[in-house]
Amino acid sequence: MVLESEWISPEVRDFLSRPRPMLIGGRWQDSADNQRLWVKDPASGENLVEVAAGGAEDIDRAVKAADKAFNGRWSRITPAERARLLWKLADLIEEHAQEFSEIESINTGKPITETMLADVPLTVEHFRYFAGWVTKLTGETLPVSAPGRYLAYTRREPLGVVGAIVPWNFPLMIASWKIAPALACGNTVVIKPSEITPLSLLRLGELAQEAGFPPGVLNIVPGFGHEAGRALVAHPGVQKISFTGSTRVGREIMVAAADRFTRVSLELGGKSPNIVLPDANPESVVGGAMMGIFFNQGEVCCAGSRLFVPKSQFERVVSDVARRAKVIHQGLGIDPSTEMGPLVSEAQMERVLHYIESGKREGAELVVGGERNYEAGGGYFVRPTIFAGTDNLTIAREEIFGPVLTALPYEDLDEVVRRANDTPYGLAAAVWTEDIRQGIKVAEKLKAGTVWINGYNLLDATSPWGGFKASGVGREMGSYALSHYTEVKSTWVNLG
Ligand code: NAD
Repeated sequence: MVLESEWISPEVRDFLSRPRPMLIGGRWQDSADNQRLWVKDPASGENLVEVAAGGAEDIDRAVKAADKAFNGRWSRITPAERARLLWKLADLIEEHAQEFSEIESINTGKPITETMLADVPLTVEHFRYFAGWVTKLTGETLPVSAPGRYLAYTRREPLGVVGAIVPWNFPLMIASWKIAPALACGNTVVIKPSEITPLSLLRLGELAQEAGFPPGVLNIVPGFGHEAGRALVAHPGVQKISFTGSTRVGREIMVAAADRFTRVSLELGGKSPNIVLPDANPESVVGGAMMGIFFNQGEVCCAGSRLFVPKSQFERVVSDVARRAKVIHQGLGIDPSTEMGPLVSEAQMERVLHYIESGKREGAELVVGGERNYEAGGGYFVRPTIFAGTDNLTIAREEIFGPVLTALPYEDLDEVVRRANDTPYGLAAAVWTEDIRQGIKVAEKLKAGTVWINGYNLLDATSPWGGFKASGVGREMGSYALSHYTEVKSTWVNLG
């Protein structure tokens, strides 16, 4: 049982020791119909803690609380004060970094070394970055006619209540991509965490209260997608939905939002190409391939799940990556020696195993892995898996969202660019080369929202994030995010 593990701090043990309510209008409460859901430990499959499960009535209460806050105290707070609150929340998250890292690692299964290095510090930086924008959200004066005739200017106004829906792979960090810019721009938020991983956001709600955000500014309603999620999208009091999750659900949300022209931004799935050019540094390539597919158990929207390698180097590169993959240490996420944890849920494990079986059945060559890892524990462990194959395989076309790499040989540059782009997705891509000019040329031709040259999974609050094609609509992070959380108003004054 993970709770008995020596690595859990007393604070986290205490946090997990009783059912967790939801946060609506500044009050922690059970759901209207007293429904709860079990959060599981993915390393053992055992129940961990019960959490209130919101339904339509809870969403309605939360949206009304957010609307009241938007039109009430929150609207009268100065930008400087709003910024201060966001800074304060960032400081509190940082102060509790160990606790957040443990909670996130226990709930998702991911290694605590990753939560300490990525999830939590990047969350802190997101709040700080957008805190900085609060006092810089300016409009323009416009040269509309002869001087003295009219004064015309623009203002950026908040939208109102923002509904945020987030997935289970980076529960806290992805929530910060939405909460931080939404609040920075003066909106209020109702967020629905994934039913699988609500814990870190519930802890965040406690710290938001401690930071001093007025009641109703941030509401946190865990619940299932088809209940709480759908109710949030359909609610007439919600002005905008910011969604991160699967392309299937993203499409459903876009269609539902069209009814009332609710604004949407969507961060969806991917099948990202990781392209090795012939002159690439061999050691960097191996590290880059590993980082691309095995970070966070491969449960990463931008996972480099298609590794393109020049035919002449194919065998060497694939066997080098396989040798490293074979010795990845799998275990309890909270154990600091763990390099790869379990998958997040039984359903996700079954999905990944199903794809592995399809690879075998369709004739891909299994180079390493390809099965559950019972030695790592009784939970949802799947061994790091590498196939060598061709573009037409299901594993080379569909998003697997797990530690499964398909290595694909190629012969020339035009061919690899064409094949890399031959996917409905367009979230990310990487190119490995010692010739930076060549790298930039290839980057220009790739249809992806982010391209890394000689790197993988590089993210920063300042750098816009989002997808081409079926990988999404809009951009999060950086100044681009601000346009999603404000409406621009032009005002004309007749001076005549
Ligand atoms: P999912 O689409 O199943 O669920 C995401 C969220 O939507 C959850 O909170 C879920 O409860 C909710 N939801 C489900 N059905 C809903 C509905 N009908 N209406 C409203 N809400 C609903 O995705 P997941 O399995 O949690 O996450 C994995 C997916 O997320 C992958 O496809 C991955 O690529 C994608 N993802 C994308 C990014 C990105 O930045 N582009 C980041 C992380 C994950």
